[in-house]
Amino acid sequence: MPFWNEEIETMPREDLRKMQLSLLRRELRKMYDSSKFIHDRMRAANLVPEDTDFDSFRRLPYMVKDDLRETYPDGLFVVPYDDLVRMHVSSGTTGKPTIVGYTRRDLDNWTESLARGMTSFGVTRGDVFQNMHGYGLFTGGLGAHYGAERIGATVIPASTGNTDRQIMLMRDVHVTTLAGTPSYMFHIAEVCEQNGIDIRRDTHVTKALAGGEPWSASMRDKLYRRTGIRAHNCYGASEFYGPMFVECEEQRGAHVWADLCYMEIVDGEGEPCADGEKGSIVATMLQKEAFPLIRYKIGDVSSLTWERCGCGRTHPRLDRISGRSDDMLVVKGINVFPSQIEGVIGEFPFLSPFYTITLTNPNYMDQMTVDVEFNPDFLTDDMTRVAAMSQQVQDRLKEVLNIKAKVRLGLPDSLPRFEGKSRHVVDNRSYE
Ligand SMILES: [Zn+2]
Repeated sequence: MPFWNEEIETMPREDLRKMQLSLLRRELRKMYDSSKFIHDRMRAANLVPEDTDFDSFRRLPYMVKDDLRETYPDGLFVVPYDDLVRMHVSSGTTGKPTIVGYTRRDLDNWTESLARGMTSFGVTRGDVFQNMHGYGLFTGGLGAHYGAERIGATVIPASTGNTDRQIMLMRDVHVTTLAGTPSYMFHIAEVCEQNGIDIRRDTHVTKALAGGEPWSASMRDKLYRRTGIRAHNCYGASEFYGPMFVECEEQRGAHVWADLCYMEIVDGEGEPCADGEKGSIVATMLQKEAFPLIRYKIGDVSSLTWERCGCGRTHPRLDRISGRSDDMLVVKGINVFPSQIEGVIGEFPFLSPFYTITLTNPNYMDQMTVDVEFNPDFLTDDMTRVAAMSQQVQDRLKEVLNIKAKVRLGLPDSLPRFEGKSRHVVDNRSYE
């Protein structure tokens, strides 16, 4: 496969590390001078931008999601609104979302990272690219759109939903490449099968950019066997810019562009993990303008390797996300915290505080069931009332979480009680 930016993508590893260090110092200097948040942290850690190395850098405490939330809406921004050309908003957990801003250069770097990533699995200007990610506040849609457009592919901004029309487009306008969530691709495969459409025979689709939710290599292989579509995993977060690291043709991890991001993997004690060893992702963006992202601990668990990749790119590769280091759940691509559900349950006097969240994914479509139980004082055998009460809780959950959860209202004392650290989540989803 050709490269998008060969000089950078194949730069010898030692040169890349040197470049990372000088970009890191430059970024720290910029933020030290413009961001009170970073300034105070560097002072406390006794760090001077120009003298910082990868070791002393680790003295800086992690940035976490709460830092972005607590400075809502724009407390971390270091450029005036005049210089911002876009904002995205990611879902919040307690009513307050996270707002991320972009300068022209930020958008440009984001687009560049996706143009490199998509080129690495064969997207070219000859492709017709059907983008089934949601366009809007979520970064997936516009990210994929601009990346593919920069390559020169023909982009169809199909957005989410309306599966029949998606399939019609796939067949009618020579679509070669899809972008979307893996679960939606399985849904498309299923609807095609039900309607006697053979994706191999009846369309030109052979590859896809897939992400926005957890999935596995075996799901990827299954999709290929079923449809002939080779799907490539994409990882990122709106706090970085958006999705930006993509699996190359080798499909052995997503290249993390080392000139844009310095990624550390740390263990539970905060010590660096060995090459290929699993730990928590800590990301530092090296060329960010609108707001700093320095030692950001996103909560995802994975491993990073600098081992040489068969594609010729020298940038390290990130394995699939294998879990979370906090209690956040990702359901249908949306972040859900058990504490949000607990909060909703607390709003209803007729419920006791006990609950269980069960996650399943028939045909890789996430489903969430919340089991709750009656407060004994409100117990009733009026079934109509019971149904109305369940519905009330269900509606409120939808309002708070932005996704549908099925609510089952049980008898007092029907749910298991837990000693010590409560475990409320039963995740039965399988990505095999
Ligand atoms: Zn590669």
